[in-house]
Amino acid sequence: MSEAAADRAGAAGDLVVRAVLRTDVGLVRSENQDFGTYTTPDEELQSGHPGGRLLVVADGMGGHRGGATASRLAAQTVKAQYLGSETEDVASALRDALARANARIYSEAQSNPDLRGMGTTTSALAVRGGEAWFAHVGDSRIYMVRDGEIRQLTEDHSLVASMVREGLLTPKEAETHPRRNVLQRSIGVGDEVEIDVRGPFDLREGDTFILCSDGLHGLVKEPEMKDVAQLPISKAADEYLKLAIERGAPDNVTVIVARVERGDAQDATLTDDPHLDDTQDIDPSAFDHTVRDLPDVHDVIPSVSEEPGRPGGATAESADPANDSLPAGVTQKSSFGFTKVLWMLLVVLVLGAAGAWLFLAR
Ligand code: CA
Repeated sequence: MSEAAADRAGAAGDLVVRAVLRTDVGLVRSENQDFGTYTTPDEELQSGHPGGRLLVVADGMGGHRGGATASRLAAQTVKAQYLGSETEDVASALRDALARANARIYSEAQSNPDLRGMGTTTSALAVRGGEAWFAHVGDSRIYMVRDGEIRQLTEDHSLVASMVREGLLTPKEAETHPRRNVLQRSIGVGDEVEIDVRGPFDLREGDTFILCSDGLHGLVKEPEMKDVAQLPISKAADEYLKLAIERGAPDNVTVIVARVERGDAQDATLTDDPHLDDTQDIDPSAFDHTVRDLPDVHDVIPSVSEEPGRPGGATAESADPANDSLPAGVTQKSSFGFTKVLWMLLVVLVLGAAGAWLFLAR
């Protein structure tokens, strides 16, 4: 270990963050389009980057293979870029990492018609010493629980969130609004994206972070989120997943639970998730999307982007009729529920017409 790396590891008694990750396809979707990852203590000791622990959650969108590809590329690119960053400045390293992920996904989408229009949310939290920073695009969230209070650190870049901010909707109405899956910003859909970067925040021992996709925060609200966060982090993460599954888990569910503790950075491995999927840490440059060409009847929706690659252009999932009048710059995440209702209405109409015809023909 180099001297700089030894410095970075910190002395026993420094604040460190331990984390666990859980992700699940849920009960309705046929594919998990979420992706979560974090740096390991070994990676954190490598020199030449700002150091500290990086946690990332991404929730992809785009029919067929696009969503899963986008979230995976985003999380892996953000991590690789952060670890390869030359700067000690965490905020600028995070901003560069998300910008790089955006450029990479956008360019993959341009060169591969199957992936055209794909995009993803990305929420990344970096914790170094007694401070934290985050960078964020989309509606995945980062919460912080301190002294029994929960606070959402990230601001959703969604249509309903902006309507709430403008006083057009109440938070309660936003929770069930049919357009709650419409994003105003996402990674990879345009050649540039506005990235929220905040920090540093001072940390205290016991602070708990929850990074999650909307598959969790859509089902588990803040009071309950806060109560569960009092558990040991592995138990808390399991409990979040369990609650989502019990409530029907219509969407993919991903959560990272992280807690600030006193200890040696190397100890952080002790409580790291033993179930962390090895494939979560594949080098993005080694990424081969041909192996991801899984048959997936659920998500095969023809792309209808009017102008492929237009910044903020609609995703492939804008085949959803509810999407027709979306304002420019808005991306819609999959909304199978609404589509299903439309199909059911259509079937009812056809059956009704057939019945009427039979009745009249008698
Ligand atoms: Ca989702």
